Amino acid sequence: MSQKIQAIRGMNDILPEQSIWWQWVEENIIALASAYGYQEIRPPVVEKTELFKRSIGEVTDIVEKEMYTFEDRNGDSLTLRPEGTAGCVRAVLEGGLIHNQSQRLWYRGPMFRHERPQQGRYRQFYQLGMEAFGFAGPDIDAELILITANLWQRLGLTSGVTLQLNSLGDPESRARYREQLVAYYQSHHAALDDDSRRRLESNPLRILDSKNRQMVEINRNAPQFFDHLDHGSREHFDQLCRHLERCGIAYEINPRLVRGLDYYSKTVFEWVTDRLGAQGTICAGGRYDGLIPQLGGRESAAVGFALGMERLILLLQQTEEAPPLARSPHAYLLLLGDAAQQQGVAIAEKLRQQLPRLRLTLHCGGGSLKSQFKQADRRGAEVALILGDDEVASATIGFKPLRERREQQQLTMSQLHSQLQQLIEGEK
Ligand code: ATP
Ligand code: MG
Repeated sequence: MSQKIQAIRGMNDILPEQSIWWQWVEENIIALASAYGYQEIRPPVVEKTELFKRSIGEVTDIVEKEMYTFEDRNGDSLTLRPEGTAGCVRAVLEGGLIHNQSQRLWYRGPMFRHERPQQGRYRQFYQLGMEAFGFAGPDIDAELILITANLWQRLGLTSGVTLQLNSLGDPESRARYREQLVAYYQSHHAALDDDSRRRLESNPLRILDSKNRQMVEINRNAPQFFDHLDHGSREHFDQLCRHLERCGIAYEINPRLVRGLDYYSKTVFEWVTDRLGAQGTICAGGRYDGLIPQLGGRESAAVGFALGMERLILLLQQTEEAPPLARSPHAYLLLLGDAAQQQGVAIAEKLRQQLPRLRLTLHCGGGSLKSQFKQADRRGAEVALILGDDEVASATIGFKPLRERREQQQLTMSQLHSQLQQLIEGEK
């Protein structure tokens, strides 16, 4: 036998017992997106490397050390997308979707970052994101936060996640703050780690985001942006807070909250949990009014978030045993004897045509009555349908509920039809 080929480290299979969780979360997200008027956009997974360098910024963890970049056969430098916003903005610009109009969009899919794999941190991971273009006011910032809060509620996540907010101001106030910050860090130069020293030149705000324990102490005493906010950003932020209060959404102001990406301004927010160790951020977002001109578009307001699907699901699995999704079959059709084997496929198909919402699994491959019943039970079916040669001859079928103590009945096809209908309707 030849050796088995294994998956790439940090790129996981989502096997069926996990995918039911994914489907449950995604179904809720899709329902919410349409409830709030957001349309799906599906940009490709690969983009020109230049797109990410220009949008995320050269001096960020992602661009410096996490991207999967390669040369294709034409010699072009391409990159597997490490996040969704850059591709989304490129697509709306290219498609002319934000020329004199606003858009509410969402996307989902795999992202790729070469990080050290551990719980909640993978090399291929999935994000669900929403982006709103062309809205400058805090109402849309509030709406995006409310969508996420609504999602937690629908998923039964009523505790364990906290909303943190901050404002990164406008470019001018950011520049003023930056100077103060550089002066502060320079006065602590000897105590800075290597990463921070490097960032001091290029991107001092990112030092605040450092996860290095040595830096946490220094960061604690760093000057806070909040004290340097421009009037407009302050007003914007206060209004956002009022909207959230009116909707009963609790929040904490975290003056050290900055985003890992360069393009944010004004609102930034994160939903964090203390139940996933160091990988505690399940959703992160904010306003990035500066990005669109940076990518060649006309000045336009933009705000969005991305949530990490794996982290959200890990969190849900800590509180719920199974997702409340009926994915098991209503019925499992057993076939005994030659005539039944011959007719079974067509009979099952006819039932599915007549009852489009019916989940019916057909037994394939023969075997004894006992082993077929065992399969029906293992698949979680509500009822077993038994088709033997006698049933084929008399156009009837055996109907045996598997989840309650009830005798097997012989039904005509029209009786079967109404029994199955009842099963389907009883589910809601
Ligand atoms: P972190 O600080 O945890 O590295 P980040 O700032 O790099 O996060 P973002 O780029 O803001 O993360 O991505 C948004 C969300 O995507 C994160 O809050 C997280 O839930 C998820 N995420 C980011 N990187 C990974 C990864 N490597 N594996 C799994 N989920 C991830
Ligand atoms: Mg990261």
